[in-house]
Amino acid sequence: MLLLRNPKKTQNVLNKIRQSGKTIGFVPTMGYLHEGHLSLVCRSKKENKITVVSIFVNPLQFGPKEDFKNYPRNLRRDLALLKSAGADLVWVPQAADLYPEDFKTTVSVSSLTNSLCGKSRPTHFAGVTTVVSKLLNIVSPHRIYLGQKDYQQFKVIEKMILDLNIPVQAVMAPIVRESDGLAMSSRNVRLSPPARRQALVLQKSLKVARDLIGQGERSIQNVRQCMKTELDQASLGRMDYVEIVDALDLKPVVKLRSGQKVLAAVAVYFGKTRLIDNELIKV
Ligand code: AMP
Repeated sequence: MLLLRNPKKTQNVLNKIRQSGKTIGFVPTMGYLHEGHLSLVCRSKKENKITVVSIFVNPLQFGPKEDFKNYPRNLRRDLALLKSAGADLVWVPQAADLYPEDFKTTVSVSSLTNSLCGKSRPTHFAGVTTVVSKLLNIVSPHRIYLGQKDYQQFKVIEKMILDLNIPVQAVMAPIVRESDGLAMSSRNVRLSPPARRQALVLQKSLKVARDLIGQGERSIQNVRQCMKTELDQASLGRMDYVEIVDALDLKPVVKLRSGQKVLAAVAVYFGKTRLIDNELIKV
């Protein structure tokens, strides 16, 4: 497994690999890896000759009051996990190399970024699309692997790729969960033991939505109210949002129609740690 830091060197190495006819799969991450990240590596390995993983806690996608400083980091552990997962190249760029002092460009996607996480994190997605554009330009992969855990992020990146004619295929992989159902997240280690127990309400509220819609409930108001009631069980939690949105344009759904694909999505703060989860539901 090759470890690189310098963007130019990484670009040169990957150019040579691509010119030799090998397919490249790319898994961008912020590190502190878990089985969710490794499932993306595994999928990429199946579908490509070479798998590249980046580890970069991107300052641009954190708001001024968010957890950039506190975001969990452990490079040594990450490298050991990636080695045993069979990653071929790990790229660990430095912020100063990606964002020199005179950096002036922002890439942003409109509309899709207005709902869900975009509402409470207004600068987040522009930070994501700006860094992912840079990473894609440097790695130039054939495929980029992203998790459904961040469904809105996937839709935003997919749209950016389409709108900017970036020659890469975006692949979305399912959410990997802990044995009790909590969606794996690097931030889970920041939860106190009682908050960790209560965090199960996220998945439970999504199950409420799935069950109600499955039983024929068609009132969004009722579904959201029952989801909220479930989230309220967590005394340590502070709800950020509970939404049912159209799975394609992420706009709030007013009326559920048969055959429609919707996304039930929730975000809850436990102290300063913000957890998200979602489920795709076919009405
Ligand atoms: P992050 O390091 O949190 O920025 O995540 C890097 C990639 O891993 C993103 O595409 C995430 O959607 C994906 N990911 C994070 N958690 C999970 C999970 N529990 N299951 C599947 N993919 C995940």
